[in-house]
Amino acid sequence: AKARGGNLAEVYRRGPDDRDPERLALESALHHAIERDELFLCYQPQVDLASGRIVGAEALMRWRRPGHGVVPPDRFIPIAEQTGRIVPMGAWALETALATTRGWLAGELALAQISVNISAREFLRPDFVRQVETMLHTADVAPQRLTLELTESMLMDDAEGAVRTLAALKALGVRLALDDFGTGYSSLSYLRRFPLDVIKIDRSFVRDIAVDASTAAIVDATIRMAHSLNLDVVAEGVETEAQLAELAARGCDQAQGYLFSAPVPAEDLAALLRSDPPW
Ligand code: C2E
Ligand code: CA
Ligand code: CA
Ligand code: CA
Repeated sequence: AKARGGNLAEVYRRGPDDRDPERLALESALHHAIERDELFLCYQPQVDLASGRIVGAEALMRWRRPGHGVVPPDRFIPIAEQTGRIVPMGAWALETALATTRGWLAGELALAQISVNISAREFLRPDFVRQVETMLHTADVAPQRLTLELTESMLMDDAEGAVRTLAALKALGVRLALDDFGTGYSSLSYLRRFPLDVIKIDRSFVRDIAVDASTAAIVDATIRMAHSLNLDVVAEGVETEAQLAELAARGCDQAQGYLFSAPVPAEDLAALLRSDPPW
């Protein structure tokens, strides 16, 4: 929403304005997005750096808002989180991603992993683990194929509760990834407490890795420590061959980014899988 009468800094200081008519309109339109079939998922391939093959895909939500085109998640996810709408939307995303994955597997398209982003509002619900279990069962997808992408802020608020939830998800067989690694207060030492499988190096590090020696050193140390903790490392936002080369030289396991493919509709990902490796 545009700031009314001007000063953006002022608006940010007050926080989101609940009475902003544009925001209210967005909120109420979002409220009906699922039942009106306006949400869809795009999928971005995750490429194994050793083989060059697609080993996974991250599902990313899109909203086709009538009269407004496709609204990017940065515009509507924060609002959905504030209103709680993210809970049914997240459930829809998980269900849809799993059903699509089932379809790919049935068509013998080799996709080892499907990654789905989870927000704090979903993760903190007491029935979250059971819901994931039920959805996996309904979609007939092996839990080992599902990776849930979490952020550290949702783990840190109640670390003990988070450890319990993560342990229950691990017991199901689901894989757990820590998204946006390096942007919060994470130190790899606290990661020992959480039963994670993957860390995703934030795109801000990837952006500078080929031009800034200290960024490269941080990524290097991150990958070494992650590997010593038995975690896989996925780099996100890889756009250039130079970035890819720096990551590969440091032993990064997987990468995703525009260099390989932007997030694409399900049919397009299926085409990429059929021609794997397409690059
Ligand atoms: P994220 O999970 O960190 O997702 C990565 C974002 O980077 C995606 O933005 C993706 O399109 C973008 N990206 C991928 N490759 C490149 C690249 O090479 N260069 C650049 N500049 N960007 C790249 P997107 O799809 O706009 O999603 C933004 C954020 O919205 C996501 O960040 C995630 O936090 C959230 N989000 C998206 N879908 C969902 C969802 O289903 N549930 C929840 N809870 N959050 C979601
Ligand atoms: Ca993510
Ligand atoms: Ca991320
Ligand atoms: Ca992000």
